[in-house]
Amino acid sequence: MARSALKSLQSLKDLAGRASRSGGRPADETASDPLIGELRAALSPDRVRSDGAQKALMKKDASVFEGGVSGPLCYPESTAEVQAIMKLAEKYDRGVVPRGAGTGLAGGAIPLGAPIVIAATKMNHILEVDLDNRIAWVEPGVINLDLTKHLAPMGFHFAPDPSSQQVCTIGGNVANNSGGPHCLAYGVTNAHVVALEVVLPSGEVTVLGGLDAEPLGYDLRGAFVGSEGTLGFTTKVAVTITPNAPDVRTLLLSFDTVRDAANTVSAIIAAGIVPAALEVMDQRITQAVEAYVGAGYPTDAGAVLLAEVDGLADGIKIDAERIGDIGRQHGATNVRQAETDHERALLWKGRKTAFGAIAQIAPDYYLHDTVVPRSKLADVLEQIYEIADRHDVLVMNVFHAGDGNLHPLLVFDGREEGKLDAVHAAGAEIVTASVAAGGVLSGEHGIGVEKQAYMDLMFTDDDMDHQARLRRAFDPVCRANPGKVLPMGHSCADIAALRSVPADVWG
Ligand SMILES: Cc1cc2nc3c(=O)[nH]c(=O)nc-3n(C[C@H](O)[C@H](O)[C@H](O)COP(=O)(O)OP(=O)(O)OC[C@H]3O[C@@H](n4cnc5c(N)ncnc54)[C@H](O)[C@@H]3O)c2cc1C
Repeated sequence: MARSALKSLQSLKDLAGRASRSGGRPADETASDPLIGELRAALSPDRVRSDGAQKALMKKDASVFEGGVSGPLCYPESTAEVQAIMKLAEKYDRGVVPRGAGTGLAGGAIPLGAPIVIAATKMNHILEVDLDNRIAWVEPGVINLDLTKHLAPMGFHFAPDPSSQQVCTIGGNVANNSGGPHCLAYGVTNAHVVALEVVLPSGEVTVLGGLDAEPLGYDLRGAFVGSEGTLGFTTKVAVTITPNAPDVRTLLLSFDTVRDAANTVSAIIAAGIVPAALEVMDQRITQAVEAYVGAGYPTDAGAVLLAEVDGLADGIKIDAERIGDIGRQHGATNVRQAETDHERALLWKGRKTAFGAIAQIAPDYYLHDTVVPRSKLADVLEQIYEIADRHDVLVMNVFHAGDGNLHPLLVFDGREEGKLDAVHAAGAEIVTASVAAGGVLSGEHGIGVEKQAYMDLMFTDDDMDHQARLRRAFDPVCRANPGKVLPMGHSCADIAALRSVPADVWG
């Protein structure tokens, strides 16, 4: 299975290669191009860009995947403008790629086949906060953390808190059904979205879901959340807002081994405690973070567990004590509780800037994302270290342990001959090992182009054809984010969309 996944990954790289051989500049993208003229008339000249510099910025996201080729880049300011773009995409038979902040790690926002890029950047308004009903309506380009900052004086926050929350958008969170350290108790994005206004690839505007507790009919909102831009463009989101907990306690537990930390996580959940967060970092990443921000982590520990409980003071005092006891029973060498808000913030700063710390070690990293049953965490982690060693790739582990959501971080220098291939080969084995342990392909980063090659590890041909049929119910010609999620062969219209651009784009 690993071999077939690698083979498919190779075809993906070939596909991307075909795109990049064009030089990244479709022949028709000149100022006199009628599509650009019509887009500029519908928006405004300064909000439709086709210059090389802008398009070069759009051809990648935060993943390691290269080779995107962007068509015109549009910055709409309203639903009506998104609708106008979709209509023009239909008229000129072009694909469209929704884009938020481009922090995705699975290549979801990479433009394949010179599609029109629709960037949500200028649709960044918090439209309404309804405290009585605990709902906020926001535009898709609102930055995740900006919503929480806006709500803070009212005593509320937006619960999903990806580590990228300082830059990623709510639209991107919805598309990837993003998670974060505090989603263990509160649930990932899907649990916080009640309604979506979307522009379908036909140009039709519709609202999925609703503010009622039980909206009528099929849960099409649920189908749209996590659809990675393949069903249309989100123009407004109604999210639930969460009251800030009256009290919070944050603990840092040190262990000699990652196995002890992982076993402690399983034991905490088995004891019936559902902490707000349970994050594990191994020694390599802890040392990197400590050198980077000085968060107060012990650099001699084999692993640390960051555990947070929130709620009423009396209850969480007991939970914190129980977590400490369970940790000690499973080998914790030290249990420390943050004494001040500053100390707590520093511990979280360390966790949330872990990926930034890597720059001191090597110029490149590939952050993987798989889920395994919690009880298998320790075994799979041992396999991951063995796989990385065998491929001579440095691996660090920092992960949402409570969810069983692993994030092996492969750290490397892409300028070294053959290194990227070794990283991909190690990654393929890690994904395969996670699925073999009863896990799944992605916990939160999505499939994008990254995991397409692995879809057959989890889904039969029939499963994928059913997914393609759902997709075509929203988008009969696969105009929205063509070439993503479903592997070629399960969504033939993707190929049509990719080929609807001038031949020389593909070389
Ligand atoms: C350092 C770092 C840490 C991260 N930590 C986490 C983490 O803890 N948890 C986590 O879940 N993710 C994490 N991520 C991944 C990423 O930040 C999330 O997936 C995020 O939700 C992407 O948002 P974005 O605005 O950058 O979207 P983009 O990358 O621009 O797009 C992502 C996908 O959403 C689609 N999309 C974007 N906007 C819209 C829209 N308006 N309508 C329809 N589709 C749309 C795109 O087509 C694409 O498929 C991390 C990334 C980095 C770089």
